[in-house]
Amino acid sequence: MIPVNEPLLDGNERLYLNECIESGWISSDGAFVERFERAMADYVGRKHAIAVANGSAALDVAAAALGLGPGDEVIIPTHTIISCASAIVRTGASLRLVDSDSQTWNMDVTKIEDAISSRTRAIMAVHTFGLPVDMTPLLDIASKHGLAVIEDAAQAIGQTYDGAKCGSFGDISCFSFYANKHITTGEGGMIVCDDDALAARARSLRNLCFKPERRFVHEELGWNYRMSSLQAAVGLAQFERLDAHIERKRELGRRYESLLRGVRGVELAPLARPYAENVYWVFGVMLDDSLPFGADEARSMLAEMNVSARPFFWPMHEQPVFRNQGLFDGERYPVAERMSRRGFYLPSGLALTETQQDHAVAAVRMMMAKFL
Ligand SMILES: *Cc1c(COP(=O)(O)O)cnc(C)c1O
Repeated sequence: MIPVNEPLLDGNERLYLNECIESGWISSDGAFVERFERAMADYVGRKHAIAVANGSAALDVAAAALGLGPGDEVIIPTHTIISCASAIVRTGASLRLVDSDSQTWNMDVTKIEDAISSRTRAIMAVHTFGLPVDMTPLLDIASKHGLAVIEDAAQAIGQTYDGAKCGSFGDISCFSFYANKHITTGEGGMIVCDDDALAARARSLRNLCFKPERRFVHEELGWNYRMSSLQAAVGLAQFERLDAHIERKRELGRRYESLLRGVRGVELAPLARPYAENVYWVFGVMLDDSLPFGADEARSMLAEMNVSARPFFWPMHEQPVFRNQGLFDGERYPVAERMSRRGFYLPSGLALTETQQDHAVAAVRMMMAKFL
């Protein structure tokens, strides 16, 4: 079976892990967490970086650090991971959803203004699958309406928008270092921002809101979302390979693109937009409406040919956890609905070989040939 993701750990991971073990610094104390934070902050050009336990935790902390709460509304794409929604909902704020752009599979920024009300406090930009969100119009809307911007750059580590690094946009940005991200710590995440007070709040929220002056006395509830030294050691080794990883992702993506472009029934994301080149975090495929089967059936057929594929996200407005609370009643977001039913992605890990890729392409071609 060709796995949908296999990470590449071929740098200084072992060396740095050994340092942790030999020195005894295995919790969140020790040099590696700060070194990894500094490396990421400098890389994206932010003043502060705060390492956390995972990307979902980064979003939780970012939403709480911005002081969102009951009565506030936050605009997010409906096509995203639940972590974006849960971070907002857990502050007590409400979600306002926006549909996707059928070309880039990102939030359709032309629909943002329709979702703004007098209660809107923030917009969350989530870069999905390989192309960044069109940030210039999004930032213009945010500044015109006085809204905060949270950037979820989990899938866009090392990607750029108009030459600036993803993770450098808006008030606060989040990364994930899950095993399928451009660099991994197994589980891990990071928050980056420029504002000193916001960074201090995020640091405190990460560490149970311990008060430096009087430990074990708390004025606010935080979390233990600390990253361990062991994770940061792996993270630093991965960081050293980030540019090579980005190059590899683009190579794999372009190769898939050239092998699948023109196959009837298959829609692919564009290689580039004026503001960015696709980094192909994953290689997504959308099935044409003329085909008599959807993404689930396609994934079963591919699995029979030993190719694992993953579905696109399931939209937030169709999540049982929200529908059962009576939320999003009657709301329709046709592009995201279509993506969730007709979209899936092929094996896209950094360790994918050309032979595996050729096999995956052959399986897709064989599947399509049966129906067209
Ligand atoms: C992976 C991911 C997350 C969550 O990160 P975890 O580390 O898995 O918690 C959040 N947002 C996006 C867009 C992601 O792809």
